[in-house]
Amino acid sequence: MFSRRLFLASTGAALWVPKMAYAEGGKAHFTLGVASGSPTPSSVILWTRLAPDPLNGGGMPPGTADVRVRVCTDDAMRNPIRDEIVRTSDADAHSIHYKLTGLKPGREYFYQFYYGDEESPVGRTRTTDPNAPEAKVALAYCQHYETGHYAAYRDLASWVPDCVIHTGDYIYEGGISAFGAKMRDVGGGERRMFEIVRQHNSNEIVTLWDYRNRYALYRADPHLQAAHAIAPWIVAMDDHEVDNNWAAGTPQDPEKQTPLEFEIRKYAAFKAYYEHMPIEAPPAFNKMKATLQLYGKYHLGPALIHLLDTRQFRDDQPCGDNRKPYCEEALDPKRTIMGAEQEAWLTRSLKTSSAPFNVIATQVWFTSYRYTEAPEAAETNLDSWDGYPSARDRLSATLADGVSNPIFLTGDWHTAMASTLHEDQFDPNSRRIGHELVGSSISSYCPWARDMEIVRDANPHVSYLNGNKRGYLRTTFSKDNCSAEFRVVEDSGRADSPVTTDIEMRTKDM
Ligand code: FE
Ligand code: CA
Repeated sequence: MFSRRLFLASTGAALWVPKMAYAEGGKAHFTLGVASGSPTPSSVILWTRLAPDPLNGGGMPPGTADVRVRVCTDDAMRNPIRDEIVRTSDADAHSIHYKLTGLKPGREYFYQFYYGDEESPVGRTRTTDPNAPEAKVALAYCQHYETGHYAAYRDLASWVPDCVIHTGDYIYEGGISAFGAKMRDVGGGERRMFEIVRQHNSNEIVTLWDYRNRYALYRADPHLQAAHAIAPWIVAMDDHEVDNNWAAGTPQDPEKQTPLEFEIRKYAAFKAYYEHMPIEAPPAFNKMKATLQLYGKYHLGPALIHLLDTRQFRDDQPCGDNRKPYCEEALDPKRTIMGAEQEAWLTRSLKTSSAPFNVIATQVWFTSYRYTEAPEAAETNLDSWDGYPSARDRLSATLADGVSNPIFLTGDWHTAMASTLHEDQFDPNSRRIGHELVGSSISSYCPWARDMEIVRDANPHVSYLNGNKRGYLRTTFSKDNCSAEFRVVEDSGRADSPVTTDIEMRTKDM
């Protein structure tokens, strides 16, 4: 009765077939697929949501609905270790966040939900194992729905990683763009063509209803569902899950949103994020402030991964944001991008870590990038760590003080990049502290790609840069190496586009 197979056995190895996972997925209520996340050596969060009318608030009647969850050790769903009824409610958009505990480290588990006689797709998940000899980790971010299909996620699912890190811009908050090709200035006097291949479902999103429907639109994509169904995700949002370039209590346009209006909007955004993500705790609203716990630590074999939240606790971008030379405000030694509590947590963890690789997954670039030649007053992107130089100096000093192989895995800038980090980023003679690796964005285009190419020579610490392709990053950690495959999508306008490796790097050669 529960023998639905989503794997094809080939030469004894289980082979995941994402297309089938989607095709066989529940048609009526499990329209948004299944997911797992926040893995530890003994637990994982299992997620789904009942949504018979996903783009119109979900479509479930008010009140509660009971869902059965089964967890097995085999992909054929024959050897159950858990079989329970979980109650969903309209208060959480009929989403489920089932904490599966009592598991063994470094093991695969398979899970499935049932509502009435309807079955969800089968998901695969995996607990972490601090003692594993190797870890396969995928990095994804920035998946604007309108500017590309998710061929990158189809390819990511076929790799069957141990874990997927998502560093934000899971949705975009903007309204509906007109279909077709657009010419955009890409800097250096050049124009390139970008295409709107599918459309958002409403004007700019503000209310809980809007955010829910936007998540449902993105999550209805079969390749995104396949990527969620193949491995546990660890997730933290960036800016577009709420409002472009927001910083703690400050929205993009403070003249249009009062502080209280913005906190209410943030709460709606946080709540819809929680309702669609495999995370444990819902947001809170206390003393007129919305909060959501996102940063955390995950230990996968040789890699101790710190996933940061550089949006919720940061000081406002200095000097009015955007790309500018520094004004005095940028140089304030008290400036923070993580907030005091998170910064202390990260520092403590790094100082006591014995892991061969210390990964810091952050939303915005840690690497400094100069957009103009003149070093004295070079323009930098003030929304990235470049807008928080004292905070970066403090973390660089910690990393230089004996932390083993720091690797930043980063998103945000729609540009693939690899760099070598020095204590003083522009002084190659200063102490070397580690590397930053940034994959391509899943589908968001990069209007500043040309600008960045023009000033490559002013940024000698950057060894790889590609803003012209969409994609994601595959990293494989062993005891003495991290190898990174920069996967790129040939044509992001096609869901069936080929995906290839643009370049492969090994940190031991960098
Ligand atoms: Fe983005
Ligand atoms: Ca962003």
